[in-house]
Amino acid sequence: MPQTEYKTPEQKKKFYHSSAWQELRQLALERDNYECEWCKREGKVTVDSVKEEGKRKEIVLNVDHKYSIEQYHQLALVLDNLETLCVYHHNVKKGRIFKRKKPKWDDERW
Ligand SMILES: [Zn+2]
Repeated sequence: MPQTEYKTPEQKKKFYHSSAWQELRQLALERDNYECEWCKREGKVTVDSVKEEGKRKEIVLNVDHKYSIEQYHQLALVLDNLETLCVYHHNVKKGRIFKRKKPKWDDERW
């Protein structure tokens, strides 16, 4: 099998449209119970949105590669390299949002 690389937008697009990816993505979502893994670690539950009649379904969950396919193309279709993330955490991971560091334990004392 020829080594496929995912460096250019075209290569990535092709990958994300492939049935192999679509199938694996589905497996990852099922494994993660359709919940954001990062939210889970923070004790929260973020599940996927429900499609509303006549509306475009809101995107809530993404399946993300822990190791990017750009650098680790051999891990592109490895289930262990995938995790379900909500849009917010996906953006955090990609560095689009800087997480506010707000100490939680100040007002939530047991
Ligand atoms: Zn999340």
